[in-house]
Formats: sequence, structure tokens, C-alpha cells
Amino acid sequence: MAEYDYDLITIGAGSGGVRASRVAAAHGARVAVAEEHRVGGTCVIRGCVPKKMLIYGAHFAEDLEDAKHFGWDIPECTFDWVKLRDNVLGDVDRLNGLYTKTLESHEVEIFHERATITGPHEITLSSGEKKTAKVILIATGARPHVPSFPGHELGITSNEAFHLDAIPKRVLIAGAGYIANEFAGIFNEFGAKVTLINRSDQLLRGYDESVRDRLLQISLMKGIDFRFNAEFIKIEENEDGSLTAHMTNHEPLEVDCVMFATGRVPNVEGLGLEDVGVEVDEKGAIKVDEYSKSSVDHIYAVGDVTNRVQLTPVAIREGQAFADTVFGDKPTTVDYGCIPSAVFSHPPIAAVGMTEAEATNTLGSIKVYTSDFRPMKNVVAHRNERALYKMICDAATDRVVGMHMIGPESPEIMQAAAIAVKAGLTKADFDATVAIHPTMSEELVLLK
Ligand code: NDP
Repeated sequence: MAEYDYDLITIGAGSGGVRASRVAAAHGARVAVAEEHRVGGTCVIRGCVPKKMLIYGAHFAEDLEDAKHFGWDIPECTFDWVKLRDNVLGDVDRLNGLYTKTLESHEVEIFHERATITGPHEITLSSGEKKTAKVILIATGARPHVPSFPGHELGITSNEAFHLDAIPKRVLIAGAGYIANEFAGIFNEFGAKVTLINRSDQLLRGYDESVRDRLLQISLMKGIDFRFNAEFIKIEENEDGSLTAHMTNHEPLEVDCVMFATGRVPNVEGLGLEDVGVEVDEKGAIKVDEYSKSSVDHIYAVGDVTNRVQLTPVAIREGQAFADTVFGDKPTTVDYGCIPSAVFSHPPIAAVGMTEAEATNTLGSIKVYTSDFRPMKNVVAHRNERALYKMICDAATDRVVGMHMIGPESPEIMQAAAIAVKAGLTKADFDATVAIHPTMSEELVLLK
């Protein structure tokens, strides 16, 4: 008789939990996963994937407009939100099925229930059933943070945005980070009047100032309004169902929808962490070591619940490293250096490595190369939107330490450029590469 029911019980079937579970099973472990919602987690069910589909949908608004300048006569165009929404949700169902199959084909048992840790090696499912495991992995992710003030419950978060019955005519988005800027673009392209408000005086903190300024300038040109240094006082519901948002330093604003995109908080409540001695930090994130081990020897955590880097590919790597370390006899840590990232705003931003400010502070002497250009397609389309590419180099070594881009397809271009930056290549290496002409990405090897 085995000492425990399973070798591994994972709580949470998102990106990190699914990868960890299936790899552990492939290493020969007996694995079960408990998931209270749907297999796939935030990224697949209510995050990156359906968001990207909406971004594609939104982009047609400009593409159809631009098409006229390329000779296309498009007599009448209407947009059907319900059709797009249902097609996107249909694909989410498909992916949910695929993720479930992946677990099943690796003989991972799935409990479609909430789990609480009730003993050192024990979890209790919401049905009351108890299961034991040698190792417990917490991969419960994070959820939207909603600031607390009178009327906050009248707002929605990105979770609900995917299920709206109609596109609101006027939307107020709170926050100026990833989700706020991505949804500002989506709602704006679908015809809503968008106002983005933030507590501080900047958007996308952490990104290079030049690309942030460019996004602000282009967003304003597209008709998105911004209000900075604005903190909510209250939201009131009006008789006609509209909402009036009151905020500091600005006039009240009447809208049809308020969406909070004010960061995400780790899902640790009700997991029973205190009872088994798993420590959390001041933000509620589970404290882990470089192998994702918590303060309790056989309890691990990966992904957003640890608040290291809140990105899907990082959670997947953490899940893989955990499974290889604990069940594959191959101790593995995750390399957090030079992680490329993107904001799927309109136009999108992509970055890897240090910003100009960070490089100046860290290295002292740097060289900055830029290309500020109007993509060929935008010229023909009479679209006055310029792309900006920026390369930051260590002046002493010529090594590229940061790349920052805003412009069409910049995340697609950045993925390849990030390999070169991660590999420690120099400006001279970029220059030695022949351009592919005519492309936008050729600017990378022609930077002055
Ligand atoms: P972000 O951390 O990107 O931005 C949060 C925004 O909300 C900031 O503007 C911040 O202001 C503001 N804010 C934070 N706390 C409060 C508060 N208490 N009251 C009022 N405003 C507040 O978070 P998001 O919600 O946009 O996204 C969450 C995470 O999800 C991201 O950090 C990212 O890791 C991930 N994500 C990644 C995407 C991608 O890779 N493309 C897409 C979407 C999400 P201030 O500037 O003052 O700090």
C-alpha cells in the first residue's frame, strides 16, 4: 500500500499547474489536479488567449478603413459584437477541452472542485472528500484587484468583459497597465468612447519612457482620453442605468461601464495556508525559494500565486522546473533574466532587457540607437502613426542590453530580437546582419 493517495496533488489547473502536473506524470508520478473553475486557467479562459482574439477582431476596424486607400471599395461595414464574443468563447471551450485531454492522456486525475489544504499532506475537496499526497503544488493564480470605495461593486473586471451583452457606448477603464491599455484599444476600435484613469501620472510603469510617450500620443490621436492623478471617490448609478464616477482632481464622468484593471492579487484565501505554516509576503503571495519550494518542505507553488513575474510563459517554466526537480531527478531553476514582454495595445509595444533609465542607473555609460519611422503600410493608408524602435547598449562593451519597440507587429518581431539580446550579442552583430527589405524589422539592423 502506498503511503499517500498520490505523489502529487496540484491545486489549480492553469498554465503552471497543468504543465507541472503533466510533466510530473510523464516522470512517473501519480498525479491529481483540483480545479474549481475550468481547466486552462486565466490565460486560456479569461486572459491572454481570448484577449488576443478580441485584439484581432478590433484591428479590422482600422484595416477596413485603410483598405480604401489600397483601392478596395467596401460599401457598408457593420460589426456584430455578439458574433465575435460567441466565436471567441467557442474557441475557449475548444481549448478547455484540449487542456483537459492533455491531463487525461497523461493519466492525471481531475477533481472539478475547490480544494483546501487540511493537513501536512492532505487536501479536502468541497465535497468533503479527503485526499493525500506526498507533495502538494499550489498553482491557484491571481485575480483582479478592485480598489475599495463606495460603488466599486458597480464596476466590472476583465473577467466579465469577455461576456458583455453589448459594447458599452462609454467606458471608463481604471488603471494604466497592461490590461487597461489593451482593453482601451479593443473598446475604442469597437466604437466606444474610452477614458482611462490612473492614480499616478504615467501609464505602463516599467516600460521605456519613449515607447510609453508614443503610445499615449497615438492613443490620444485615436480618441482615447486619459486622466492622470485620479483616485476614485465614489461611483453612483443613475436612473437610466448609466454610472457617474467621481474622482480626485477631475470632473465627475458619466459612463455606461467602469472596468477595473488595477493589478492582480494572488489567490491564497481559504487555502488553509496558515494552518500548515506556508508563509506569504506582504502582498499575500506565497514565498518560495529558487526551486519554487514554500516554507514547508513538501509544499511548492508556481505562477501568479507567487507574484514573481506575472506572465504565462514564466508560470509554464516554473511548472516545468518544479516537475523536473521534484519528480525528474533533475534540479532546475528558472532563469528570470531578459524576459521579453509585450502589451497588445493599438499599436502594440514589445520590450526586452533594460529601459534607458535602468541602463543609465546600472551601467552609467550607455549608447542609445533609435529608428522613428512611418511603416510603409501606414504611408499608403494615410495613417499618421509612427513606429519607434530603440536599442540600448553598454558603451563599454557594445553589448545590447535593452530593446524597446512600438509599432505594428512589434511583439512578433521582438520574439526573434530577444534571442539576440539574451545571447548577449553586440550592436556590431546586429549591423553585420543583412536587412530583409522592405520590412519593418529591417530597422533593427539599420539603427543609427
Ligand atoms: P498592471 O500592474 O500592469 O497595472 C496596474 C495599474 O493599476 C497601474 O496603472 C497601477 O497604477 C494601477 N493600480 C495598481 N494598484 C492600484 C490601486 N490600488 N488603486 C488604483 N490603481 C491601482 O496590472 P494589470 O491589471 O493591467 O495586469 C495584471 C498583470 O497581468 C500584469 O502585471 C501582467 O503581468 C499580466 N498581464 C500581461 C499581459 C501581457 O503579457 N500582454 C496582458 C495582461 C495582463 P501605477 O502606475 O500608479 O502603479
